[in-house]
Amino acid sequence: KQTSPAQVEFYQAVEDVLESIEPLLEERPKYREHSIIERLLEPERQIMFRVPWMDDDGKIQVNKGYRIEFNSALGPYKGGLRFHPSVNAGIVKFLGFEQIFKNALTGLPIGGGKGGANFDPKGKSDAEIMRFCQSFMSELYRHIGPHTDVPAGDIGVGSREIGYLFGQYKRLANRFDGVLTGKGELWGGSQVRKEATGYGVVYFAQCMMDDQDDSLDGKRCLISGSGNVAIHAMEKLYELGAKPISCSDSSGTIYHDNGIDLDLVKRIKEEQGGRLKEYLKTHDDAEYTSKDDYPEEGHSVWRYEADIAFPCATQNELTEKDARALLENGCKYIVEGANMPTTQAAVELFIESGVGYGPGKASNAGGVATSQLEMAQNASMLRWDFEEVDEKLKEIMSNIYQDAKRTAEEFGHPNNLVLGANIAGFRKVADAMLEQGVV
Ligand code: NDP
Repeated sequence: KQTSPAQVEFYQAVEDVLESIEPLLEERPKYREHSIIERLLEPERQIMFRVPWMDDDGKIQVNKGYRIEFNSALGPYKGGLRFHPSVNAGIVKFLGFEQIFKNALTGLPIGGGKGGANFDPKGKSDAEIMRFCQSFMSELYRHIGPHTDVPAGDIGVGSREIGYLFGQYKRLANRFDGVLTGKGELWGGSQVRKEATGYGVVYFAQCMMDDQDDSLDGKRCLISGSGNVAIHAMEKLYELGAKPISCSDSSGTIYHDNGIDLDLVKRIKEEQGGRLKEYLKTHDDAEYTSKDDYPEEGHSVWRYEADIAFPCATQNELTEKDARALLENGCKYIVEGANMPTTQAAVELFIESGVGYGPGKASNAGGVATSQLEMAQNASMLRWDFEEVDEKLKEIMSNIYQDAKRTAEEFGHPNNLVLGANIAGFRKVADAMLEQGVV
């Protein structure tokens, strides 16, 4: 029953899970008898706080800060922080809810949480970003800890922000703890963490394709976004012989039939903090579509002929109309880098049509899995090299794929990775909750 109509994304995420687990609930009535669903839907703790900070003109600005500690049945709360003007209680709640099952799927001992602020980092100076992060952490530090709650990055929170957040934590707590992941490599960060979500999505796609005796070699790929996940997905795709031909930001889409010039995208987005439109200054044979010219109820990034689509920007960015266009253009696989990027109607269409569909909570779990590897390195005071972490990431992605696939088969829906991932994740959390009593 919906009790807060404003939290539409949260209800969308809940419906997706509840529909999938119906056959499991029939088979194991114990979950209903012990009110597992009712308990799971209510976060263990929600923290909302004021984040006051001073801008470069000396004016005091105020933002809303959030941390949802959703479920700790499997381990300390773990999940990123998002800084974006669209952040509100419903968005953080949907992300936290998804995180519970994603983290369970990794097979690692981590619970689910998420947080952020309705702060817009765009156009802010470095000093403003630092003052914001310091103010945000001045409240958050009392709620987190290496065995309690370990935040990481998400949209708008990369290594620079994690650095400022960690600096302030250390100052307030007087402890050098593994309390955040995605840290700089000089001070406790893990190799491969930056690349992990994007690389992991591609490893997951590889598993799906192996099962069809198919490979990434020569495949044309559409990617949305041009941030951390999109850039590292494109990097791995090139490494494995595929060709990314589109990417986007919140202002528009680039299509480049020769293949996206990834070094240029990195320069524009990572070094200059610029807009993708600038890509045309170097490549006049590429095509740019401004957001204002996108097709009605859809996105230009999905309207090209390609073999695989990787949504890597944000929620609900691939609509039913986009899904139809992808299918008409011969797309065979959709593998999600972002959280819940595909609308419910589009997901149903993909599943009905029988194309390969990798849901984000399984396919983008490489980021949080590598965060847990960072926690393990911090706890043991060891540092593993790049190859070692990358190998573990690959193995974890393969295990997640096999787990979701096996579970889908067990419940009579082979190839339905949505059902498989939801049941496999839910079952682990629910069993841990049963074993821990009424908590
Ligand atoms: P970044 O902030 O690095 O990049 C986000 C990208 O998406 C940017 O290109 C941004 O455009 C675009 N974008 C953001 N919001 C919108 C919007 N409302 N409309 C259109 N474009 C938008 O974030 P990440 O790459 O880290 O995250 C991308 C997705 O992946 C998110 O859904 C996140 O939750 C998910 N994810 C991230 C993980 C991680 O390890 N970072 C782990 C698992 C999931 P612009 O440059 O214009 O802002």
